Amino acid sequence: MLVINEEKCVGCAQCVPFCPREALAAWGLCAVQRVRCDDCLVCLEYCPVDALELSHEAG
Ligand code: SF4
Ligand code: SF4
Repeated sequence: MLVINEEKCVGCAQCVPFCPREALAAWGLCAVQRVRCDDCLVCLEYCPVDALELSHEAG
């Protein structure tokens, strides 16, 4: 499952336009709308500070 590392995220919003499901938003910090995200992980490679991460926890 995609998770946002809030310690790393700088709220730059660079990831936002790359989500094909418009699940990302950034005001201050980035947030993911879980109902929209299908964990395609496309966004991971667009974060310049590697704040988008893959969590192995269920959910
Ligand atoms: S994992 Fe895919 S659907 Fe989820 S926020 Fe990233 S790009 Fe969007
Ligand atoms: S690209 Fe990375 S640092 Fe920028 S808003 Fe997205 S998750 Fe945060």
